[in-house]
Amino acid sequence: MSHFVAQCMDCGHRSTYHPMQYACPNCGSLWLEAQYDLEGLKEGFVARLERRPFTLWRYREVLPIRRVNEDLTLGEGGTPLVKAVNLGMMLGNENIYIKDERQGPTNSFKDRQAALEISALKEAGITEAVLASTGNVAISFSAYAARAGIKLWAFLTSLVPPEKMREVALYGTQVVKVTATYDQAKQMAAEFARQRGLYYSRGSKSIPSVEGMKTLALEIAEQLTQRLGPPEDGSAPWRAPDWYVQSVSGGLGPQGVAKGFRELYAMGLVNKIPALANIQTAGCAPMARAWEADQPEATPIPSPRTHIATLATGAPGRTYSLLYQHAKTYGGTFASVSDEEAFRAMHILAKMEGLSVEPATAVAFAGLFNMVRNGDIRPDDIVVVNCTGHTIPIERTVLGEGWARNLVVSRQAAAVQEPGPEEGLLSALHRLTADRYPRVAIVDDTPDARRLIRRILQAQGDFTIFEAENGREAIELARREKPDLMILDLMMPEVDGFGVLDALKEDEETAEIPVIVVTAKTLTPAEKRRLKGQVHSLMQKGEFMSDDLADEIRTLVEE
Ligand SMILES: *Cc1c(COP(=O)(O)O)cnc(C)c1O
Ligand SMILES: [Zn+2]
Repeated sequence: MSHFVAQCMDCGHRSTYHPMQYACPNCGSLWLEAQYDLEGLKEGFVARLERRPFTLWRYREVLPIRRVNEDLTLGEGGTPLVKAVNLGMMLGNENIYIKDERQGPTNSFKDRQAALEISALKEAGITEAVLASTGNVAISFSAYAARAGIKLWAFLTSLVPPEKMREVALYGTQVVKVTATYDQAKQMAAEFARQRGLYYSRGSKSIPSVEGMKTLALEIAEQLTQRLGPPEDGSAPWRAPDWYVQSVSGGLGPQGVAKGFRELYAMGLVNKIPALANIQTAGCAPMARAWEADQPEATPIPSPRTHIATLATGAPGRTYSLLYQHAKTYGGTFASVSDEEAFRAMHILAKMEGLSVEPATAVAFAGLFNMVRNGDIRPDDIVVVNCTGHTIPIERTVLGEGWARNLVVSRQAAAVQEPGPEEGLLSALHRLTADRYPRVAIVDDTPDARRLIRRILQAQGDFTIFEAENGREAIELARREKPDLMILDLMMPEVDGFGVLDALKEDEETAEIPVIVVTAKTLTPAEKRRLKGQVHSLMQKGEFMSDDLADEIRTLVEE
């Protein structure tokens, strides 16, 4: 039994979590939430943290993974909490802190989400996944997918700035550029994943994604306590802020942070749950509009008008309703700022605090300025602002041609706003992929070597990949799947690579399969003679670069 369960938000049914089991088995709801034995965990929770490094994995008992995968980590979480010294002075508030999420591995707070979700996929043995993104999710997932040996498809709306698209492509992710809104790109990505039976990343409906964002709350509570000490009345060991301020698109961040503080409160570690300030950009502010009209549900914005593509979720769905509930119970607000206000805040933040941020991040600071000015935030409130991210420009010339595939949705289809299958959107999908991909068998007894070769293939294009971990399996695999190419290790227990080659040649069904040998062994002249004429090429582990192998593979499968 695992240390957590997936609990349905609608009927309360509890089940074991599996990434592909995304609906409640009892009622079909897509809204599942991780539940832990908080009562049992609270004893000794703080003491256990003492010896652990300051990364998000220090909270592993309340994270939805079975084991921390040291091979995946890029040092996610553990970002500094910086005091806003000059801004604080300017605004007349001594307790404004900035959680500097630019310092995550890919420079945005999406690293928390990606680290958890890719870990969960890896634990479940999933090797291919699909997502839609306004940029940063795709960048972050791409980095972790590269380490994990997971092939990623990223559906990006054409509004995403080219430097972000290039960064996604740089990581070897297949970029699909969708000329449509972000909400439509999400629909297409979901349908693409469904047709191909692939994992689709569901953002606020994904347990690991929400739990990744939750770690912000735990870090903030620990860091505020280090600076300010625990609450004066001794009511809890850790301190929670009065306000958490974030720029919001789909609302996953505040959703996770709210859950984090609720759990900390349930464990008695903090004495209050902060109010959330959700700041949107005026050109796409469905939440702020609904809040102003005191509506618990947001009306979608069909065509967002903002230069800040990161925040272009027009249809926040139930996440808004969850945040609305939070605001009604614990306080909070939804507000919007113009693009101009955001750009001004960006400039002020850089000049006053030495923080250069992307426009989406500046939205939160513009919101903060307005809230202090209009008195929503009081001079003695403790405020934490999420400094969500920064853009790294990727050199135009490194990628060459053809790194993105284009999906242009006809104007007619784009005009249809209802969610659900849309003929125009769906027929565009068919042009995206071939019916059959080159089939490649990877044979190696070392899992790390298999992951490396899988990754080289994934980053090169579309392949159907098979793996065998010994010679006997390789021979069976070759007979059963008739791969177009085999990448073969020589030194393996039982039947080694030489044995595999002999067996392939003996069977006329497999005799013609081209073979690339990749070996760590220094071959004797006799062994070299034995391979001569049997294999297409020979590569020495530790000496080849991924491009060499990729070139070999391409010439073999494309002829
Ligand atoms: C994703 C993102 C946001 C919005 O976050 P949500 O919690 O998903 O609404 C804000 N700023 C940056 C830099 C982001 O990448
Ligand atoms: Zn249910």
